[in-house]
Amino acid sequence: MPKRQKDIGLVDKIFLIAAIKGVALLFKRFIRNLFEAILVELGFRKRGQHIVTVQYPDDILPYPLRYRGRHRLTLDDEGRIKCTSCFLCATACPAKCIYIEPAEHPNPSIEKFPHRYEIDTLLCIYCGFCVEACPVDAIRMDTGIHPHVYPTNPNFFIEDKETLLKRSLLMRKFSKSELIESHLKKIRDYETNNASFTHNFETG
Ligand code: SF4
Ligand code: SF4
Repeated sequence: MPKRQKDIGLVDKIFLIAAIKGVALLFKRFIRNLFEAILVELGFRKRGQHIVTVQYPDDILPYPLRYRGRHRLTLDDEGRIKCTSCFLCATACPAKCIYIEPAEHPNPSIEKFPHRYEIDTLLCIYCGFCVEACPVDAIRMDTGIHPHVYPTNPNFFIEDKETLLKRSLLMRKFSKSELIESHLKKIRDYETNNASFTHNFETG
């Protein structure tokens, strides 16, 4: 028998007692946090160590160095899409959320390009396997931008080729921190003014 199972006492094995203990702990922390929040509001204390709620988007925690961010489709030096519709990313994707429709490229030296390329970000688990699988560096997750707060319409979560390409164009024009700030501003505007969301955002 695993050690952890063995260590659970008889009292803890009775679900009701464990539930009561859980509610008691919750209540204790609620009172502690409430008391601390009142002191912070009255100016007697700086934000308490126990209150960990982050008032996003006004307040953000620093992202870890390894944070990837949303996808983008890359462009070559002449501004053409790098993707050759090889399907390796879609094949590697564990969530099966990449949809590609290939088409013949007008340039005979390039076999194919994606007529349609979409990622359903409601299904995506942001694992990065698509990036690893791509043989031509056509897809990256280096924008540093996390997903938007969308209204409850699943179609808003589908990122199309134009949205994914636009991120690469924006990254040529603006620094990553400028894009993140613009992204946060949109969320603030949305929350304060209830501004309507459209599918194509400036920061994608
Ligand atoms: S990050 Fe992972 S889940 Fe998301 S599209 Fe890429 S492979 Fe699929
Ligand atoms: S993004 Fe890369 S792996 Fe995916 S279809 Fe295009 S070239 Fe292939």
